[in-house]
Amino acid sequence: MSVIFDRVALIGLGLIAGSMAHAMRDNGLARHVAGYARSAETRAVAADIGLCDSVHDSAADAVKGADLVVLAVPVGAMAAVAAEIGPHLKPGAVVTDVGSVKQAVIEAVAPHLPDSVHFVPGHPLAGTEQSGPRSGFATLFVNRWWLLTPLPDTDAAAKQRLTDLILGMGAQVEDMDPIHHDLVLAVTSHTPHLIAYTMVGVADHLRRVTDEEVIKYSAAGFRDFTRIAASDPTMWRDVFLHNKEATLDILGRFTEELFVLQRAIRMGDGQLLHDYFTRTRAIRRGIIEAGQDTAAPDFGRGG
Ligand code: NAP
Repeated sequence: MSVIFDRVALIGLGLIAGSMAHAMRDNGLARHVAGYARSAETRAVAADIGLCDSVHDSAADAVKGADLVVLAVPVGAMAAVAAEIGPHLKPGAVVTDVGSVKQAVIEAVAPHLPDSVHFVPGHPLAGTEQSGPRSGFATLFVNRWWLLTPLPDTDAAAKQRLTDLILGMGAQVEDMDPIHHDLVLAVTSHTPHLIAYTMVGVADHLRRVTDEEVIKYSAAGFRDFTRIAASDPTMWRDVFLHNKEATLDILGRFTEELFVLQRAIRMGDGQLLHDYFTRTRAIRRGIIEAGQDTAAPDFGRGG
């Protein structure tokens, strides 16, 4: 594959940025990848394992001369990072982010960027419950969607270049309106994570009552919840604080549905339960047929 960007700067060196570094290297998509992370510890690990071609002590230093800058920090940290790098960006550079929420990130980042750069917000729908500089791997994005939420004045050539890079990492690209993105993700990712956190919290409470049996005999359903509930606390705190309205909307609908099922159980309405579970089973089949999961018994990858 051919080089798409001469110099890429990754701001934040966790799961997503690390996976991009591996994928860009494996596919020959960038000549030089510069990296910056907030803590000296993460920077030391990144340098030690050769995650990037150069590791910098400041974000401002890392973005100097970069043709593409990727903001890969928690959503709540985007504004401060954008403010720091703004004055140091190369004119004509493409700036993107990988935040799991889009409208709030656009509002946080765009005001800090000079008119001479092209901001193309994005979100890879790929992830694991792992985090940190050692967690990335080159195939994370293969066959996954990467949504771009361009602004009305986003430069078409800049968006195309970013799209070429994403395709080169094996993902599929689609455009979406940022507010619509936040609603879709509230349904497909954010609210399910909140439910998993809640269920594991309930079990943790129960564990104290049942003397470890919940953990010892945990079957697949609960184990799948614990995998999701092991996701990075900072990232997920920020997702809920910044996708507040859509998450609250979906949670309201969820609660109503839960009460329908709760009532069916209380009234012994087996027909309702059976019909409901038949409909939900078809959704699972659709996801597998769309190539977005295997039939293996785990789920909940990514934010
Ligand atoms: P991660 O593995 O936890 O890495 C986060 C990186 O951001 C670390 O390098 C961390 O530096 C840095 N960071 C944390 N707080 C910061 C702050 N206040 N200021 C500056 N840097 C800070 O996270 P990730 O999973 O790669 O997620 C990064 C972004 O991708 C998030 O916006 C998330 O919403 C989005 N995303 C995640 C997934 C997923 O499944 N994980 C999927 C799609 C999109 P230190 O290591 O030095 O603390």
